[in-house]
Amino acid sequence: MGKKFLWMLGGISAVALLCGSVSLRAQRPGPTVYVALWFDTEDYILPQSAEAAKRIAVLLRQRDIRATFKLVGEVARSYERSNRTDVIAALSHHEIGYHTNFHSQHPTLAEYLEPLGWEEGVAEFDRRERPGVELLRKMFGALPTAFGQPGSSWAPQIYGGLRKWGSPVYLDAMSHVRLNGKPFYFGGILNILESEMAGSIRPNEDFSNLQEGKNKFSSLYERRMAEGGGIISIYYHPCEFVHKEFWDKTNFAKGANPPPADWKLPPLLSPEDSEASFRHFEQLVDYMMRFPRVKFITASDAAQLYRDTAQRRVYSRRELADIAEQVDSDITFQIYPNYTLAPSEVFSLLTFYLAQQISERSNAAITLSGTPFGPSSSAARLSGPQEIPWGQFFRTVLEVEATLRKSNKIPSVIWFGSTPCPPESYLAAAAEMARLLLDGSEVPDVVQIAPATLTTEQYVADNDPRLWGWVIFPENFSAPNLMALGKLQAWTLKPALLSTSTRRR
Ligand SMILES: [Zn+2]
Repeated sequence: MGKKFLWMLGGISAVALLCGSVSLRAQRPGPTVYVALWFDTEDYILPQSAEAAKRIAVLLRQRDIRATFKLVGEVARSYERSNRTDVIAALSHHEIGYHTNFHSQHPTLAEYLEPLGWEEGVAEFDRRERPGVELLRKMFGALPTAFGQPGSSWAPQIYGGLRKWGSPVYLDAMSHVRLNGKPFYFGGILNILESEMAGSIRPNEDFSNLQEGKNKFSSLYERRMAEGGGIISIYYHPCEFVHKEFWDKTNFAKGANPPPADWKLPPLLSPEDSEASFRHFEQLVDYMMRFPRVKFITASDAAQLYRDTAQRRVYSRRELADIAEQVDSDITFQIYPNYTLAPSEVFSLLTFYLAQQISERSNAAITLSGTPFGPSSSAARLSGPQEIPWGQFFRTVLEVEATLRKSNKIPSVIWFGSTPCPPESYLAAAAEMARLLLDGSEVPDVVQIAPATLTTEQYVADNDPRLWGWVIFPENFSAPNLMALGKLQAWTLKPALLSTSTRRR
């Protein structure tokens, strides 16, 4: 046998073997459980935290697992100052997310965004936080793929900033916005905010609860399998493996803001307990790896798996008729087999369709490019039905279309001449007019505008002291303005669908 033939044979058998194992795995029936491991890498005070981040990065890499490390800008600067190129190199095998520029130094995110409205807040978030993004981009050669706030310091204006940066995922654990415990889109960003493992994976005092963590994972795995696949989001902080108390609680609790010269080191775990913490974590990871349908993913993998298939697709007349048909005075998101639509997207599609039809412009394709943001402020609800002449309705639709094209944002108030109207009522009427036109029917001489409600607001929490229980906040901190602004962004809320083309991998 010639060498070439041998090589071919070798090549064929290697390929066959590879395909065999790959296809066996691929053909095994059943869904996939995606495990997203992420690490809030935030402690720039205790030097041992850098070592902990490196050790976790290395032990995961040894297992071929890529995780998401959400770094604080000041942590990256601390690596530079102490010349920890080894830590940077270890982290660079994983995906880098962003966890604000200074984390717990005051004012934190929610503190400085509470007094600001939408536009000013987005600009202020960008001004304060962008330097950390730029540093991470330079250090790791890529834009951070995920963002998460410090503690419970959430604010809706963050989403405006993330869209500016092109950061695709909000990866955190919190209760300000929730949608049935599943990933969702909010502000045009994929949100993964449920972490059911949080309470059960951390070791207790005598490290006797490993089995409890395993049981919790196993039951979540079974639940996801029964649901046809899904995500399990698990987070840690590298500093948890070396400290007894968080670096920021030691220094910035209850609004304290000492200068760097007065920062104190938090108490350390004993070397034995620190070792046992790493071991506890390793054993849990090794346990998760044994499940046949587990696949470890990063934030950008999640963005791909849950990608927003409503964007850049062409909507047929038939689909637009279905979309218009679904709209009533309870404005909410819409779910179709292959895509979902946020209320602001329904608003946009139907406005573009109406504008095109009534101005008798070309029959160009109706598409979506980006989720329009919600309004900046809330309009007074209509006290009762109003009658708007068709000619006025028509002129207003064209104005709304122009506003959407310019700012891709729902107007706070829509004017029918001298009559102000909230966008909810406009959408309900616009959907009815779109239905008539798509049906080939005549439009009426007078359009009825009636009170309507944005029901997706229910998924954004009412302001409550429990939302702001983070130990770093000044005592009695509350942010009613942020939650009110958040409810306006409920225009952008919709479920995220696990992509069918990748579900059976
Ligand atoms: Zn944090």
